[in-house]
Amino acid sequence: MIQKRIENLKEEFCKSYGSSDNIRVFNAPGRVNIIGEHTDYNGGLVLPVAIDKSILAVARVREDRILNLKSMNFSMEVSASLDDIRYRKEDDWANYPKGVAWVLEKEGLKLKGADIIFEGEIPIGSGLSSSAAIEVVSMITLLKLSNKKLPLKKIPLLCRKAENEFVGVNCGIMDQFIVTFGKKNHALILDCKTLDYKLVPFQSKGTILIVGNTKVKRGLANSEYNKRVKECAEGVKILKEYINREEIEFLSDITKEEFSRYRDKIPAPIDKRCEHVINENERVRQAVDCLEKGDLENLGKLLNASHYSLRDLYEVSCRELDVMVESSLKIKGVYGARMTGAGFGGCIIALVGEKAKEEFVKRVGRDYQRKLGIKPDFYTCQVGDGAKEI
Ligand code: ADP
Ligand code: MG
Repeated sequence: MIQKRIENLKEEFCKSYGSSDNIRVFNAPGRVNIIGEHTDYNGGLVLPVAIDKSILAVARVREDRILNLKSMNFSMEVSASLDDIRYRKEDDWANYPKGVAWVLEKEGLKLKGADIIFEGEIPIGSGLSSSAAIEVVSMITLLKLSNKKLPLKKIPLLCRKAENEFVGVNCGIMDQFIVTFGKKNHALILDCKTLDYKLVPFQSKGTILIVGNTKVKRGLANSEYNKRVKECAEGVKILKEYINREEIEFLSDITKEEFSRYRDKIPAPIDKRCEHVINENERVRQAVDCLEKGDLENLGKLLNASHYSLRDLYEVSCRELDVMVESSLKIKGVYGARMTGAGFGGCIIALVGEKAKEEFVKRVGRDYQRKLGIKPDFYTCQVGDGAKEI
């Protein structure tokens, strides 16, 4: 499959840039977060996997400092000088690779110009993080072509910086991390406070992840997201008055026991918000245990518990997400399902036995459409490798 995409893209490269001499090929995947929702900005744990859908880049170094950027997914082509990289709204998608070049130059790495053509099969704006994929594939392309090296951990950090400061999107660090460090048949547990991470074996043979897109725009998500961030900060402040430990900075630094001892000191609804975060963090640890034992039944139960907590305690779900999760759970062969992302629309993920795939797509699709009048999208994913040169 990927070979065919590479051949096609090489042909397109030739048509656009003359010849295929000295071209190199790079690839970066999308991602799905198995569990650990709204834990990232609370300094907590997340457990994403890289998926088998990716963005490819075919590229050739230039002798000057010009970046020529094309994408098979967009008609807009952009040419920019590395000596004058600025965000331009009209450059649209090309601000992502430009932002990556900008951040590398700011780090003091003098880059070479390049002709690059991208092609992606990650659905855009659908919760699989095509943005992190385009950032990371751009970064490894520019580094390799310019013969520059960075400490590995800097790659996700700098990609995030490009998205935050150049493109102007306020994202966390998880996506760029998993896209950089993901590995086939592995999930990655990341501590969002310390940025320590570890690959955990995920023998996903016979199992797939299905992402269901409710097609509901996350209308409330921004204002409610900011509200949750504030509520969590308020929760930490109150708990710190009672728990005498210097290192408490985030909700994730507080144990379940400590929380239950002082819960009644916290006004509603902040108490519920804290409970979600502290339990969710614990669920990530339990999910790692399940993966290590190959216990998908209990992993599925953790996904369900995460959903109910996001719905009832964190209050970021909505009818569409709840309907889709409930219909998923009715299908035999589904281990578990939950909403994912900021909430108020967007996507669910379900852990599904491969044999149940067709029935899942058919029945959940029909049920959802009947109840909501919207035709959902489904993306079937397997666990794939992180970014690399091919
Ligand atoms: P997502 O949830 O997929 O990360 P975002 O809105 O964060 O959605 O990022 C999507 C943006 O990333 C696109 O609008 C585009 O600018 C860029 N992008 C994604 N895929 C590609 C691609 N194949 N080629 C060029 N740009 C892409
Ligand atoms: Mg994104």
